[in-house]
Amino acid sequence: MPALANDVIVVTGASRGLGRAMVERFSDEGARVVLTARDEERMTEIVADLSGESLVVPADVRDADAVERVVDRTIDEFGRVDALVNNAGVSLLGMYDGRTPLEEINEDDWDTILEVNIKGVFLFTRAVLPHMYEQGHGNVINISSGLGRNAIGGAGPYVSSKWGLEGLTRTTAIEAEDCGVNANALDPGGRVDTDIWAHLPDEERERILDPDVMNDAAVLLAAQGPDGVSGESMPAEEWERRLG
Ligand code: NAP
Repeated sequence: MPALANDVIVVTGASRGLGRAMVERFSDEGARVVLTARDEERMTEIVADLSGESLVVPADVRDADAVERVVDRTIDEFGRVDALVNNAGVSLLGMYDGRTPLEEINEDDWDTILEVNIKGVFLFTRAVLPHMYEQGHGNVINISSGLGRNAIGGAGPYVSSKWGLEGLTRTTAIEAEDCGVNANALDPGGRVDTDIWAHLPDEERERILDPDVMNDAAVLLAAQGPDGVSGESMPAEEWERRLG
């Protein structure tokens, strides 16, 4: 039987990049996948090629009502939610030309990065936890970054958002501990060839990781039962060693 047979998995940031890669793999593993992001057209194209059941519900992760609608539609359609992958994220790179020191960062851009990368995770986690608690099981998987454990100059809002996400992951794990729900952070372990790096020259993009790099680890995390590992954060390869 496939690893995730019939599981219901909500993936944010599902319209491209790492999110799209996880959606396709979850579907291959037998899961019923709910795709959410803002670009409905791209998600509709993705589901056309999926083998299993799926649902597309567009939403901006910063919009609490839209997030609630995604989870309500998931429950209406599939009756439960086994895993939530909080993958939607933005970095400074799409907004500025390279690394940018704090004194040059505009307040709206700071807000956008913090709101998508942390508030969006809070809103989705808040919306799914009551269902997971009722079921007595669930996995929340937050997509972090090496910059959730380290800092570099010129990426202040992104670094701050991912460190915040690490704290939110641990808080979720503590609060969910007695309810059978695990919360962990997963990161690719390096730069991945997605739209975040669209500005790099082709020869440099070819040298970075492929978007399927987290798929094996994401499947292992999504398949964890109520007594699984929780409150931990590590790159994909380390998760594979820990859970594989
Ligand atoms: P990407 O290709 O740019 O995709 C980002 C996804 O987030 C898209 O599906 C986008 O969909 C969605 N998104 C952005 N803003 C949104 C919003 N306001 N509401 C809803 N969805 C939104 O990026 P990626 O590289 O796959 O990144 C995915 C995750 O991996 C992020 O959390 C990122 O921080 C993390 N990560 C990436 C790398 C890397 O090198 N690529 C390294 C470490 C960690 P729409 O535009 O359709 O809304």
